[in-house]
Order: sequence, then C-alpha cells, then structure tokens
Amino acid sequence: MVAKGEVAVERRNLSPAALYEEAIRRDEAAIVSTGALTAETGKHTGRSPKDKFFVKEPTSQDAIWWHPGNQPIASTKFDSLLERMQQYVATHDVYTQDVFACADPRFRLRVRVITEMAWHSLFARNLFIRPTTDELMDFQPDFTVIALPSMQADPARDGTHSETFILVNLGRRIVLIGGTGYAGEIKKSIFTALNYILPAQNVFPMHCSANLSPDGDDVALFFGLSGTGKTTLSADPSRRLIGDDEHGWSDRGIFNFEGGCYAKTIRIKKESEPEIYIATESFGTILENVVFDSRTRVPDYDSDAKTENTRAAYPVDLIPNAVLSGMGSHPHNVMFLSADAFGVLPPVSRLDEDQIRFYFLSGYTAKVAGTERGVTEPEATFSTCFAAPFLVLPPERYADMLVERVKRHHVDVWMLNTGWVGGPYGVGERMSIAHTRAIVRAVLSGELHSVATHLDPIFGLQIPNRVPGVPREVLDTRDSWPDPDDYDRQATRLREMFEQNIHQIGKNASAAG
Ligand code: ATP
Ligand code: MN
Repeated sequence: MVAKGEVAVERRNLSPAALYEEAIRRDEAAIVSTGALTAETGKHTGRSPKDKFFVKEPTSQDAIWWHPGNQPIASTKFDSLLERMQQYVATHDVYTQDVFACADPRFRLRVRVITEMAWHSLFARNLFIRPTTDELMDFQPDFTVIALPSMQADPARDGTHSETFILVNLGRRIVLIGGTGYAGEIKKSIFTALNYILPAQNVFPMHCSANLSPDGDDVALFFGLSGTGKTTLSADPSRRLIGDDEHGWSDRGIFNFEGGCYAKTIRIKKESEPEIYIATESFGTILENVVFDSRTRVPDYDSDAKTENTRAAYPVDLIPNAVLSGMGSHPHNVMFLSADAFGVLPPVSRLDEDQIRFYFLSGYTAKVAGTERGVTEPEATFSTCFAAPFLVLPPERYADMLVERVKRHHVDVWMLNTGWVGGPYGVGERMSIAHTRAIVRAVLSGELHSVATHLDPIFGLQIPNRVPGVPREVLDTRDSWPDPDDYDRQATRLREMFEQNIHQIGKNASAAG
C-alpha cells in the first residue's frame, strides 16, 4: 500500500534484471544457484478451471459455447470487481508489460498485462512476444489483463465460485484474475480470447506445439493435453522450435501466439531434454514451485514436495535454433499425443479422415491419479479438441477447421501414445523419450509412409509393422502385455469410454444447436 500523500508507481516494461531486483526487494521470489528466479504460487499450483467465467454481454453471448466448463457471469458483477481492481491499481505499486500475442503481424494482438507481482511481470515478458522499443511508442492495448493474487472475491457478493476468479470479458477485451498466483492463468486467458477472436478472421487457433525442419520446409504440429509431450517433443535438436503450446493456422501457414515456453521441470534430465534443461537454468527464467536447498540454492527438480506441476517460463530464443519469426508454412504432419496410462493405445498409428475428427473431438489422455490409500490408478481424461478449458465456440467449429485444412493441404495425421507400454501404470513402463523421438523421426522423414501396416482389431487403427529404432515389443502393445487377454479387456474398456464420451459430445451439440 502506498503511504498517504505518495503516488503509486506504475513500473512499465521493466527489464528482467530490474524485475529480479523488484521481486527480491519485495520478497516475492528467490534466486537459485543457476541464475533463475524462483517463486511460489501459493494455494494454486495449477490452473483453476472451476473459477473461470465469461461475462455475459451482447457482443459474444450468442457465439459462446455455454456448458458447465464455460460459465456465465453478469456484467454488473464484472464491473464491480473491475472497479475494485482499478482502485487497487491506483493505490498500490503495480507492474505493466506491453506485449504482443500472435507472431503473424496480420493478426497481432497488443496486450497490456498489469500485475501486482514483479515476477508475474517477468512471466508475461518471457511468455508473450516482446515488442521493439519503436513498437512500444504509442502502444494502445487491444486487450488488457489485470492479475492481482491478493484480490479475493466474495462468492455471495461477486457471483464467483470461490475467492479465486478468472473473468474474461470478450466485449470490453479485459481479463481479471484474482485469488491465484499461478502465472499460467495469464497466458491461458489470452489463449482463450484468441480462440474467440481468430476464427472470425479465418484462423484456426490450436493448443499445440510446432517445429520446423532445418531447411525450413517441413512443419510439424503436436497436439495433446497437459503432460503428453508438446513441449518435450517440439524441442528436438534436429529441428527448429516454432513454439511449445499455442499456434494459429491461417491461409498462409502457421504462427506462434507466444514468444516463450512454459516447460514442466519435474524430474527433468539433462540427458533426455538438454535444450529445455539449459533454458531452465538460465538468467531471466522463472521457476514456479521448484524446491531448492535453502543454503546452497541448488534446485531439486526431482522433488514434488510443492507440486508435481513445477514449471520453467523462459523466452523461446533460449532454445537453440528457435524460429524467431514464430512463423512457418502449412504443416506436412500433425501428431495427436496421448499419454495412455492404461497402456493399450499403440505407440503410433496413422489416422484416416473419420479417425482424425473422432480423436480430435475426443481429446484423450489418461492421468495417474493418486488415491488416499496410496494406490494409484489411471484415470481417463477427455478434453475436446485437446483444449476444452480454452474453447469459446462449440467444439465442432474447431474440428471443422482442422479437417478442412488437413484435406486442403494433404496433411498426414498420426496418433502417438507417449504413455505406458508393457502393461498399465504400475505394471508396464512409460515409453522412453528416446523411443518416442525415434517414432517422430520416422514420421517426419517420410519412412513410415512406405512401411506396411496392420489393423488393430479393437480401435481399428493402422499400426506400422516396424519403426526404425523402436523394438518390436514396444511397437506391438498387445504382445507387450504379460497377459494378452488382460490387454483385450482393458482396450475394450477404453474403447467404450471413448464411445460414451463422443456420444455425450454429440448430444451436447444437438442440444445446443
Ligand atoms: P502442458 O500443456 O501442461 O504444457 P505438455 O504437453 O507440453 O503439457 P510436456 O511438458 O512436454 O507436456 O510434458 C511431458 C512430460 O512427460 C515431461 O516431463 C517429459 O519428461 C515426460 N515424458 C516421459 N516420457 C515421455 C515420452 N515418451 N514422450 C514425451 N514426454 C515424456
Ligand atoms: Mn507444454
């Protein structure tokens, strides 16, 4: 709080070094032995989907896909929270970053991010596209995000779900975030806005990573839910990274929405992910909820004492050979990543047109959920278009955009299981990153196009008979199980879950239409 008679200071577009000093002075964060800045996010160590609302307002209310994940809030509620936040901003020192979203200049969105925390300001600077000094002259924002973790809502008065809130106002182009320190909310709220803004400009917004061959010709996209390998697999030493999480597909090709990466650091190993590891250990990088030794300040990436979802946020140019324009041509290959903890999906299969739509609308992965008794059991997650929490329009709109582009540009679409082989979680093992990378290499080199396939009887997927660098027992999921009958039972169960889920999506769509 600013003392009486003093004027609150707005610290605008501070550099990483200055933001380090601010964060340390205010006791928000610490510096670890590697040079990274490390912060704790408090109660929320991940996104808080139940606390996200769209303001019900005339310009967007008819377009929004209203369902339990996209809840409405009245604009009067929004106005009163906005007023309290503006009051806070006027009376406290806050940090402002003026940044861009969308690397393609034709679709550039000017975003102003106003934060209570200095480290959130550095997060915004790392994750979004950093304008040049010239571009900062006369910067007028198209969209404004205000993030004040100490601002708590009162559900009875404010109409929120809890004291935490993420309110997206598509008409006024403002996002309000309160009651959470998890920085990922800032980037994903702009991603949400782009899922509304871009389809109207004939751009398909995608929750995917992207990379490029060294000659610049061959773009690949990797779709998948959290933890399936978008960030890990797109940082490939033999390719050039375009972006690790959010892209648009226009009439000219694909472009990154962001200027940075947000990598998981839990149990990261320098040997299997050297590029990400080095970026994680750089000055300017922000670590979230990473445990470190209080004396030596050495980070312990193996510790999940604060959360399993530990993160590093860094500018994309910390990855060697990243594509600094953030743009690429139409992709040749698209990969759907699922970390199937049931261990039944094949490591790789090629999808036909119906399967592309089916698996895109399904948006499947399986998490390993811990129970109170310490027993861990896989749990299926279906998140339509691999992006349910960020979709604004009905899912079919996005699926249509994908299928239309895939057909027009003759794109090959593959499904990869980056999860378990040799049995389910607890019996089998997670696919090694080396084997998944070998599969990706075989797809991208074109080798898999000429390899004969066999039909898997349960999912109807075409599985290549061999992949260079991947042992047979890894490739043939059924044979890799100790008991093939167990495999058949589990695979059938998973297929039924898929069917039930797609049936539900169809029902929702006809109810809405
Ligand atoms: P988010 O949307 O949350 O950013 P993501 O799709 O980017 O998720 P990654 O950050 O790439 O997910 O996480 C994949 C995790 O799984 C990493 O911690 C990686 O080390 C681990 N991993 C283990 N085996 C594999 C594999 N075969 N392929 C990919 N990742 C693997
Ligand atoms: Mn990621």
